[in-house]
Amino acid sequence: MTEELFRQDARLHACSARITACTDAGIELDRTVFYPLGGGQAGDSGVLVLEDGRPLTIADTRKAKDADGQPTGGIVHVPAAGQEALLARLAPGQSVAARIDTERRQRMMRLHTTTHLLCHVVPHLVNGCSITPDYARLDFAMTDPLDKEQLTAAIAALVAAALPVTVASISDEELDANPALVKSMSVQPPRGTGRIRTIRIGAEGGPLIDLQPCGGTHVANTAEIGAIVVTKIEKKSATTRRVVLGFA
Ligand SMILES: [Zn+2]
Repeated sequence: MTEELFRQDARLHACSARITACTDAGIELDRTVFYPLGGGQAGDSGVLVLEDGRPLTIADTRKAKDADGQPTGGIVHVPAAGQEALLARLAPGQSVAARIDTERRQRMMRLHTTTHLLCHVVPHLVNGCSITPDYARLDFAMTDPLDKEQLTAAIAALVAAALPVTVASISDEELDANPALVKSMSVQPPRGTGRIRTIRIGAEGGPLIDLQPCGGTHVANTAEIGAIVVTKIEKKSATTRRVVLGFA
């Protein structure tokens, strides 16, 4: 098991940790600030600073899987190629300082929170989602046309409103009682652990802009999103409209 520090505090960019496993897939730690690929959001990259001060470059982060492909609860830090000599020195028990590429992550947080704003602006089910450091795309199950400028303006208004973005959780039973909370047809919230993490956009007591189960990393206020534009709208199929977001 890896303690997932990024779930409660997405602004955490570094932590000390201990190596728990070194496998062909990469390095597992007892705790980490690295977000693993999931829910449409790309895995973090960054560096693990070893006990002797040498930096090991991490190219990607994934959820650890067992031989049957089932998640183990561990998080694998995938090293960039060409670091064999450094990797050979690693062993469980050693301590490291884990540091993500902050700028890259910040871009993904800005885009991820924007995709949730888009769920408010375009109230249709989502059947595909991808969040990278350079762009994000959401596929909506809908047949009506969408307008690029209109969507960009609607997002800009929600960013200008400086709405708080807060992490909370609900029980499996609460989610069952409110199935409309799940806006994604392609990503199902993880059940069975008792609580399901939610992301709420909108001030307490004010209008609720968006509330949905999500395990991703988000900015704390929509004002942090800055200038984002809808760069493209595609008719992906007769029943799917794809919206692509980018930085202005
Ligand atoms: Zn999300």
